[in-house]
Amino acid sequence: MRKLRMGMVGGGEGAFIGAVHRMAASLTGEIELVCGAFSSSAERSRKSGIALGIAPMRAYPNYRQMLEVESTLPSDARMDFVTIVTPNYLHYEIARAALETGFHVLCEKPLTTTLEQALALKDVAARTGRLVGVTFNYTGYPLVKHARHLVGLGALGEVRKVFVEYLQGWLAFPVERDGQKQAEWRTDPERAGAAGCLGDIGTHAFNLAEYVACLRVREVSADLTTFVQGRQVDDDAAVLMRFENGAKGVLCASQVAIDEENALTIRLYGTKGSLEWRQEEPNTLVVKWAGRGREVLRSGVNYRDRLCPQAIAASRLPCGHPEGFIEALANLYRGFAEAVRHHEGEPLAPLLDHPTLDDGVRAMAFVEAALQSSQAEGQWKTLKL
Ligand code: NAD
Repeated sequence: MRKLRMGMVGGGEGAFIGAVHRMAASLTGEIELVCGAFSSSAERSRKSGIALGIAPMRAYPNYRQMLEVESTLPSDARMDFVTIVTPNYLHYEIARAALETGFHVLCEKPLTTTLEQALALKDVAARTGRLVGVTFNYTGYPLVKHARHLVGLGALGEVRKVFVEYLQGWLAFPVERDGQKQAEWRTDPERAGAAGCLGDIGTHAFNLAEYVACLRVREVSADLTTFVQGRQVDDDAAVLMRFENGAKGVLCASQVAIDEENALTIRLYGTKGSLEWRQEEPNTLVVKWAGRGREVLRSGVNYRDRLCPQAIAASRLPCGHPEGFIEALANLYRGFAEAVRHHEGEPLAPLLDHPTLDDGVRAMAFVEAALQSSQAEGQWKTLKL
């Protein structure tokens, strides 16, 4: 089995998530980074590429040149897919250009800055026959997969209520005015999109809720707030959600929750039992059964007798050897790589799922509905899909 060849846009020196993507891709053992346009500056892109050990001529000055040149290389040399790790406003144009040039795309969240763009991307993907994955990486954890498995089996009965919370404190002060690079573009609607916290971490919470509940959200009522004076986007979001089966959800996302680090938590309540999973303790899943108390499940490749096949496939180590954020993202990369190989005709049945273009589009429909709802004093808005 040959390695898939990856090109990267963004993720140059000093960037946050690009380096995590490279570690995750490499952890799969089936992907190699062969080229990139790592920065908006041609010189920084070249320097970053060389520092990463890729051939200097494949450290491109910009993504357009990368797509153009790569598409003329022989099929046994050119990249197979592009991973996009730039600020949000560039996702759409880069993804679109990559699809049009014949490459599959793995894109960071949020997929685009508007629902209109996300739907347009869906058309382009359908027309070009290329795949798009979106890195809602929290679905890559073994115990999130097991939680989904339990709910999907109906083990917890019918889902009644979902609470999903994503709390961070790093934007509690106007750090964007002190030159904090990641804060600067995230609080600029031109570069982040109209949604701040809602788009940045609310979309993760939304995706996790739909994934674990095995249900789709139909409508939302939102209350978005900008607590830090002078900031142009929301830094706190409270959203009520109605799922298609009548279940109810409460989503809270905040980036002004002082001292919270990356506190993503989901609690789900069904008619027979409930569950609780916390991202900061990802190797534990608590299942609460009506009439027989709690069961604490732990992750580990040796727990074949108690975890579903997806959770086992997403684990690498025996119990007690903690796996975390990078491994979860690696599981998405593995799922996406399997989907690409399958798409290209390799005879394999993909073992691991990954968030797809539809998940990316749904998250944008959620963002748009929540923005509109908040502007209309919490009026219920239907996700337009
Ligand atoms: P960052 O500011 O740290 O990095 C952005 C990178 O993009 C920089 O290297 C910058 O030079 C580069 N860039 C900007 N314009 C470019 C262009 N025209 N061509 C090529 N490169 C360009 O940002 P970040 O925090 O790494 O976030 C990047 C993306 O990843 C965002 O969409 C963000 O929402 C997402 N993200 C996702 C997660 C997750 O957990 N899934 C975590 C963090 C960030």
